[in-house]
Amino acid sequence: MTPVTFFAGKPIAVFGLGGSGIVTARALLAGGAVVSAWDDQATSRSAAKAAGVPLVDLADADFKSFAALVLSPGVPLTHPIPHWTVVKAQEAGLEVIGDIELFSRQRTLEAPLAPFVAITGTNGKSTTTALVAHLLTVAGRDVAMGGNIGTAILDLAPPSQARVHVIECSSYQIDLAPSLHPTVGVLLNLTPDHLDRHGDMSHYAAVKERLVVASDTAIVGVDDDWCVAIADRREASGKTLVRLSVDHALETGINRRGSEIYWTCLGEQRTVASLSGIATLRGVHNAQNAAAAIAAVSALGVTSEQIQQGLASFAGLAHRLEVIGHVGSVLAVNDSKATNADATEKALASFADGVFWIAGGRPKEGGIASLSPYFDRIEKAYLIGEAAADFAATLEGRVSYVQCGTLENAVGMAFSDAQGSGATEPVVLLSPACASFDQFKNFESRGDAFRSLVSALVGFQPFAKG
Ligand code: ADP
Repeated sequence: MTPVTFFAGKPIAVFGLGGSGIVTARALLAGGAVVSAWDDQATSRSAAKAAGVPLVDLADADFKSFAALVLSPGVPLTHPIPHWTVVKAQEAGLEVIGDIELFSRQRTLEAPLAPFVAITGTNGKSTTTALVAHLLTVAGRDVAMGGNIGTAILDLAPPSQARVHVIECSSYQIDLAPSLHPTVGVLLNLTPDHLDRHGDMSHYAAVKERLVVASDTAIVGVDDDWCVAIADRREASGKTLVRLSVDHALETGINRRGSEIYWTCLGEQRTVASLSGIATLRGVHNAQNAAAAIAAVSALGVTSEQIQQGLASFAGLAHRLEVIGHVGSVLAVNDSKATNADATEKALASFADGVFWIAGGRPKEGGIASLSPYFDRIEKAYLIGEAAADFAATLEGRVSYVQCGTLENAVGMAFSDAQGSGATEPVVLLSPACASFDQFKNFESRGDAFRSLVSALVGFQPFAKG
């Protein structure tokens, strides 16, 4: 844990007692703050109470008596409307901050030179964060990884010059962290997302830009217009900027050609790594994540040799194009995290052909019409869940498909067809382009179910990770 001594002796209101909220309250208590914590949900309050967090109903509290309101990132700060605690805090002139802000202040106080990598973007944050942490670990560094992935930031070991913090930041967390100041900040990409919580795209982009502005070294993916504008403003500020592109050549920055990642400086090129044969970093989207991770660890002194070694042993993340193993010659890939067509597009784009595609679940707006440029890569589709009829209508006459109802049926049929297909590298790909809630608790349990169904097939050979 990182005790937050910054507010020692001061009364602090904490609202939102999910996992990270409880950790935040405990970190404040450990640092000597006087905590009044609350949540609208009785179950969250009970969990907090069991963890020794003092509960005070903030609806009745005088906010003028607090030094700050510490808000969980899941609670609306601005949109669709500010939460009632935020309104009370604003009326009392209180600052409203989050756990990453507390970490940032504690770092400034205790170890201002402690290396701190912060990663954001609309897509690829978790993969990039995990890869940065892995590359640093392989290079022998002491790494604390967390934030929006895995462990809450204040549950990690305290900042120190000998330890690198690698933190995934959501836009909500950045919005609550006015003094965020990473050594290296990564902005991967920006596409419309979470607009219910940010109002519009320009507010969403402005929040993400804060991470870039605040960083000593900023790494910015310049394959979308929002990020190009952010990179241009960063360059104009004269501060260190690394541009990153996987779809066009740069004059200076980090680039991709096929599976090769290279630096380019005023047109001079130097290869830094190859992603060829690395099953956990398949696809152009993962090349963007890998190039960002490479640029980030390079800024912290990791060598090309260490990077290549680390890339080769990256285990990848569960449910994101996760290679489960082979059944005979058929590759099994779990992309259960793909809950919309955009994510499934990345998966289909990662395989040239021979795809036996399991799709469906609770449908999302727009269906799968946008995937038609990839239909020729699909040998056959195995449809499950509530979206099956809809998907069938889109595929009709273009891709052969079968209605399977359940994931279990789909796995059986897909492997049997793939094994008998004669395709050179057949793949059974679960990439549903749908939410899971019609048949599963969440995308994780859908992916876990796929994994266990595949593992039970005769001839299954698990993928050797790392
Ligand atoms: P996040 O943490 O931002 O949600 P993840 O690393 O968990 O991102 O990846 C989630 C999904 O987003 C992946 O399964 C893939 O479909 C897609 N994705 C990953 N990286 C990228 C990227 N760089 N650009 C676009 N889409 C991506």
